[in-house]
Amino acid sequence: MQTLSSPSASTSFDMDDWRSGYRSQPNEYAYAIEDIDGTIPAELEGTLFRNGPGLLDVNGYPVHHPFDGDGMITAISIAQGKAYFRNRFVRTEGYVKERAAGKPLYRGVFGTQKPGGPMANAFDLRLKNIANTNVIYWGEKLLALWEAAEPHRLNPETLDTLGLDYLDGVLKPGEAFSAHPRIDPSCDRNNNQPCLVNFGVKTGLSSTITLYEFDPKGRLVHTHRRNIPGFAFLHDFAITPNYCIFFQNPVSFNPIPYLAGIKGAAECIQFNEKQPTRAIVIPRDGISPIQTVDLQPCFVFHHANAFEADGKLYLDSVCYQEFPDLKGAENYLEADFSRIPEGQLWRFELDLTTETSQADCLIERGCEFPDLNPNNVGRPYRYLYIGVAHQPQGNAPLQAVLKRDLATGKEEIWSFAPRGFAGEPIFVPRPNSTVEDDGWILSQFYNAERGCSELAILDAQHVTQGPVATLKLPHHVPYGLHGNFTQDFVIPA
Ligand code: FE
Repeated sequence: MQTLSSPSASTSFDMDDWRSGYRSQPNEYAYAIEDIDGTIPAELEGTLFRNGPGLLDVNGYPVHHPFDGDGMITAISIAQGKAYFRNRFVRTEGYVKERAAGKPLYRGVFGTQKPGGPMANAFDLRLKNIANTNVIYWGEKLLALWEAAEPHRLNPETLDTLGLDYLDGVLKPGEAFSAHPRIDPSCDRNNNQPCLVNFGVKTGLSSTITLYEFDPKGRLVHTHRRNIPGFAFLHDFAITPNYCIFFQNPVSFNPIPYLAGIKGAAECIQFNEKQPTRAIVIPRDGISPIQTVDLQPCFVFHHANAFEADGKLYLDSVCYQEFPDLKGAENYLEADFSRIPEGQLWRFELDLTTETSQADCLIERGCEFPDLNPNNVGRPYRYLYIGVAHQPQGNAPLQAVLKRDLATGKEEIWSFAPRGFAGEPIFVPRPNSTVEDDGWILSQFYNAERGCSELAILDAQHVTQGPVATLKLPHHVPYGLHGNFTQDFVIPA
């Protein structure tokens, strides 16, 4: 088993450029995108919905961490070689009340406090459902997701907030529904139709994971609930036809600074480097027993994919050597990248017969936000797409897109450096093609030179040739988190 490498110093990007992508964007737009370099592929049709913090302050009170920023949805609809942009904030209860009050009324999970110091924050344990992490179109509903509470439903055409959505009574008020659903392209429990698989977790001294599977109409077809020992920070999971797999990071939670009004809940997470990370393998049948496999200590937010092969279970996951917090920086904008570990892509091979594992580092370059052809989710796959640092070593902001051929190890990169900063790449297959990498990579990035955001469309079979089209927005969109492309909906221009 290899060990994770140490972070090293990096200074190959301009901090002021990077910071300038974290300005609040209070405006809401709707327009046809006119400024386009290159040609949008005629066969590319659908809508890229993305979510992320649109506000990095509440009426001038800065958030302590971007993850505490109010969710703003962007939609770029593409059809017949043309594109249309729209963005809107999710009208969460917190967003509406804070706008009216002109100041923060809630504490953020990642350390944002109400004005007034600890006395004003102590024992205020209300959660602000900020709806800022992901957005997905499923069952003819557009849902903005935040992992600790229920989704908000939006009108897919106008992005107007319709309210909290309980998924036809599946969720109870306030019940968690993760921001990382997985779409199984062919679910044998549902006549080989696609299904959306997601989970909610309730944690404390022990943890309860509830798993849900929904058919393409959004109807619940399968649910079960499992208990696991210990505190569990579960942001994402992976699926195969037979399993849901979670990584229980080796962390503990000391609630005292949170209760005392000094820190946010997520700032009270402590990484225990002597404890293994634990793979929790839950059979999707809802009946067979859970299995656990110990792995090297690492911290994982995101999994790229999982699959079953040769009697083993494989997981490709972005691993950090430890919990990548701000390492004492007062402010995220002052974060010292050289002190924060970078994400690296590892492949874990789990033997469920012996409950043992092996691990190999596949991508050492700092990386996050993996994606793949949606038809290969949960299945053996060859091509992975991921946001990466421009420089091959050390931690730095994501500035490039990498395509990795997992069969040969060949890597192809397109970089937006020195002044572009990338996020999550999204692979869109060419309609009716069965070739795994036949399609496009959509990468929304921030161009510090213009102070504006752009959408690059790359031909996934010719990454190093650069974008076939770049859609230049006349404004910026703050760095976002996750999104999805749907071929099932286009906003009428
Ligand atoms: Fe995530």
